[in-house]
Amino acid sequence: MTDSDQREILLNGIGVSPGICIGKAYLVEVEGVDIIEKYHISQSHVLSELNRFRLAVKKAKNELRAIIENTPAAIKEHVDILETHVILLKDKLLYGKIIETIELDCINAEWALKKVVSSLRSMFMNMSDPYLKERAIDIGQVADRILNHLVGSERINIAAIDKRVVLVAADLSPAQTSQIQLERVKGFVTDKGGGTSHTSIIARTLGIPAVSGLDHATKTICSDDLIIVDGISGNVIINPTDQTLIAYEERRFQYETRMAALDRQSHLDAVTLDGHRFMVMGNIELPEEIVSVLDHGGDGVGLYRTEFQYMGRPDYPSEAELFDKYKDVVEVMAPRPVTIRTLDINGDKALDRPVESVEDNPALGLRAIRYCLRNPDVFRTQLRAILRAAAYGNVRILFPMISGYEEIQEAKVMLNAVSDELEKDGIVHNRNIEIGIMIEVPSAVILSDILADTVDFFSIGTNDLIQFSLAIDRGNRQVAYLFNPLHPAILRLLQHTVDAARTKGKKVFMCGEMAGDPLHIPILLGLGIDEFSMNPNAIPLAKQTIRSLNIQETRCFLSEIMKEKTAQAVMERVQERFSQEGGFSVSG
Ligand code: PEP
Ligand code: MG
Repeated sequence: MTDSDQREILLNGIGVSPGICIGKAYLVEVEGVDIIEKYHISQSHVLSELNRFRLAVKKAKNELRAIIENTPAAIKEHVDILETHVILLKDKLLYGKIIETIELDCINAEWALKKVVSSLRSMFMNMSDPYLKERAIDIGQVADRILNHLVGSERINIAAIDKRVVLVAADLSPAQTSQIQLERVKGFVTDKGGGTSHTSIIARTLGIPAVSGLDHATKTICSDDLIIVDGISGNVIINPTDQTLIAYEERRFQYETRMAALDRQSHLDAVTLDGHRFMVMGNIELPEEIVSVLDHGGDGVGLYRTEFQYMGRPDYPSEAELFDKYKDVVEVMAPRPVTIRTLDINGDKALDRPVESVEDNPALGLRAIRYCLRNPDVFRTQLRAILRAAAYGNVRILFPMISGYEEIQEAKVMLNAVSDELEKDGIVHNRNIEIGIMIEVPSAVILSDILADTVDFFSIGTNDLIQFSLAIDRGNRQVAYLFNPLHPAILRLLQHTVDAARTKGKKVFMCGEMAGDPLHIPILLGLGIDEFSMNPNAIPLAKQTIRSLNIQETRCFLSEIMKEKTAQAVMERVQERFSQEGGFSVSG
């Protein structure tokens, strides 16, 4: 063993980003109540700030209730203290006073909480009664609990980490993950999360190994422990023995050699054995990622998730700022296409600014196109920037979360109006761009024959489509085992979409994570998907897989697997039939 006092421990979670890394753990914890910042809020945001505070209190209460329920009756004293905390949460002196402070001082909830708590604490501490004196401790603990829910883990400054480490966190938000500096962070592990959460998607884009859904990693791993993260199998090994270390060094070497060999072929076109060429594009979150798309042989950008430019900041980006970013991407990629998706904000990629109301179910809430149509100024600014950037290359526009006909009509009316404005103002732009919609809500699949009439292309977002049609929260590790793109119901939805588009002569692309898994590609070719977009790191293997297939054969294969009743049966058929060809598995 590396240290005779330490035992090797194996944890198993969900491998969300392939690769192997070995390094010192860095535990990311939520910091204490004292470091919060004060900021003023406008009168019009007071209500949403109050709602934010109320939601944090509600979450703190639910958390306490769950702890109380799980505490053995024998530890009654502890339960009594927690019951006091539940009561304190809604105490007039604490809860009522914080509400009042937010309203009167127009300040953020964290600061109001800090202000009220410190005055209450000194009031109780100055009391002579020892019982009341002790209440100061309870107030501090209750305040910390609310604060943790107010700030979540958003406060952790990932960008400030200055050691070469493996992050260990309860959860990381997509915004935090996108701040990871590759030269500092080797990989990460989290207690929560599933394979298609945005956090996992970003890890794959960054090309760092990651394992999620470990439940107790933050309780089992200590900072500076040596850990191995195997993002392929989902294993995390704490304090590995020398023997384990040698075995994993070898695995890492093999994996990296294999990936390097694939990269060397990535510039070759994805042409099937029977001569059909497919475009394999990259999904990007940030403009800088186009380098990775090009390095991995991407034929363009099939999905530019634009929301990251709106996150982690107190204001909205200006038209000039957006235009500059889009133009850079479009110019570098030209003549290759760049598919710019309009803002898909909220869901799990929440804005930092207060929203009109706190949503219990953000994935089904005011997100994406709904948010944009409700906030026309924000939408118009982005549309103007996109149309202006379109003058510098090959741009397509993509509207997310379309659930019905009216939404796409409204979005197109806005786009036309913006284009007329630009025309009138004599600003260089290009209005002749292809318009597409994400097919990621089941109603859009059902209506695909009607929707196909109004657009140039569909792009299937399997991450949300699976989440909504199989009723599985894509970020919830408890149900991650059910998240299966090969579910016969999903295959039928895909088939329906492709058939509807075909009848109308429209193209169907796929940009959900399903497109980047080589085991799915024979099925997608058989279905008739026209173009693929994926994490840039997945492009070389996807291209190689396409080069090993024959379209005619995939069509026959599809008609066979459409008869299967379960995802498991479909998976077995694909493995049996194709895993010998083209080197399908990343694990090698
Ligand atoms: C999807 O839902 O499949 C998709 C590509 O969009 P996002 O992952 O950004 O929600
Ligand atoms: Mg989506």
